[in-house]
Amino acid sequence: MAGATIDKIVSLCKRRGFLFQGSELYGGLQGTWDYGPMGVELKNNVKRIWWRSNVYERDDMEGLDAAILMNRLVLKYSGHEDTFSDPLVDCRKCKKRFRADQVDATEKCAEGGPHDFTEPRPFNLMFRTTVGPVATDDDIAYLRPETAQGIFVNFKNVLDSTNRKLPFGIAQIGKAYRNEITPKNFIFRVREFEQMEIEYFVKPGDDEQTHGQWIADRVAWYHRYGIRPENLRQHVQASDELAHYAKACTDLLYRFFPEREDEDKQYEEVEGIANRTDFDLTCHTKGGALRFADGREVPNEHAVMKQTYFDDAAKVHLTPYVIEPSGGVDRITLAFLMDAYEEQTLEGGKQRTVLHLHPELAPVKVAVIPLARNKPEMVALAKQIKKDLQGTGQLRTMFDDSGNIGKCYARQDEIGTPFCVTVDHQSLEDNEVTIRDRDSMQQERVPVDRLKSYFFERLGL
Ligand code: ATP
Repeated sequence: MAGATIDKIVSLCKRRGFLFQGSELYGGLQGTWDYGPMGVELKNNVKRIWWRSNVYERDDMEGLDAAILMNRLVLKYSGHEDTFSDPLVDCRKCKKRFRADQVDATEKCAEGGPHDFTEPRPFNLMFRTTVGPVATDDDIAYLRPETAQGIFVNFKNVLDSTNRKLPFGIAQIGKAYRNEITPKNFIFRVREFEQMEIEYFVKPGDDEQTHGQWIADRVAWYHRYGIRPENLRQHVQASDELAHYAKACTDLLYRFFPEREDEDKQYEEVEGIANRTDFDLTCHTKGGALRFADGREVPNEHAVMKQTYFDDAAKVHLTPYVIEPSGGVDRITLAFLMDAYEEQTLEGGKQRTVLHLHPELAPVKVAVIPLARNKPEMVALAKQIKKDLQGTGQLRTMFDDSGNIGKCYARQDEIGTPFCVTVDHQSLEDNEVTIRDRDSMQQERVPVDRLKSYFFERLGL
């Protein structure tokens, strides 16, 4: 039995249609990936279970879908224009660029010997564009580098339109863009990605307890959908790691790099859960101000509304504190893929690769396979079963006659399909089919008219 590395996942993803390099046909575009037929299903499922757990299963959440293009002032008053940068160094010899805090000291320069680095200088990660037909400095806009700002600038809109009382939260899933200096490790670090973020607003004083609760809730979510506890760690940021506005931050680290010798380096961030205090709403409010780490203050002269909350009981206007669980869809998808991956040696030495994905995550729930693809009656029955199961709206079902039965099973195992249904000669006589379980590989005969209830029960839907 062997587990996953990112390299193994890359090859499975390409082979089975989960992910392709972005713009591959033209040599690619670094830091971009395209989700293929299986990948889009998996990613949609990741987003669905996150939305369901965090919005539908709670009573204190609202959803939002803000625009990706944002007015420059949003990113000015959030501090991103000035400080959303990574330290960049150039090698004077080979001209390659590196993120200064991620340089591998053992790497050799292509021109021979060690690299000859310049002093680090800040490089802003935001993608800039211009909006409208003229391209002057006044027309500059940014692609959002995080979804969070769309939530902060809509706090008052959501509050007024829903009549919410504190505490409550706003959830958003959407694309974010960062011109990363060195995108790498597949979908772990890319330039175009998706985030799933929550801004949870509380009264000052309630923030610490709420922060602890969100950390526990988010860890439980990963466990619920199959991440093994030993592969998920918590890292409480020390005071010198914290962003200047954050009171506390716990990172959830997943074991993305099991092949690294140093165990601590095997784990890297999959999600951060921060206590951001009242920093963001203080920046984005009429009469507010952006405060930098060095004490500089930029008064907000542009916001057209006050973004405060009226506390009925105390009869005061207050600025809520914010707890922010922020995860990347692509990194979380990669974590689910890695955790589900297993290479097995079966009796007789046969190998199989299988994704033990949680049924809710599996791109396909059931594959229907006719044993002989040249037998029209068998194919017709298989297609009918596919249609009926798919018609429930909850069972993504695939008709698979892509090879012999062994090949079909191997393909479905690698996609993570929990069940295969095989229609054989006997099925045409007794209207029963063989169901094979992905994980145990056990097979059983089940009447066709019981299939729906069988799958709903087995998949826990
Ligand atoms: P890192 O330190 O790895 O660059 P970060 O601390 O800058 O990440 P945040 O700004 O906290 O990341 O973003 C929240 C989440 O968004 C991260 O936990 C991660 O899952 C995801 N994320 C951030 N940057 C990227 C990226 N370039 N590619 C893929 N996912 C990303």
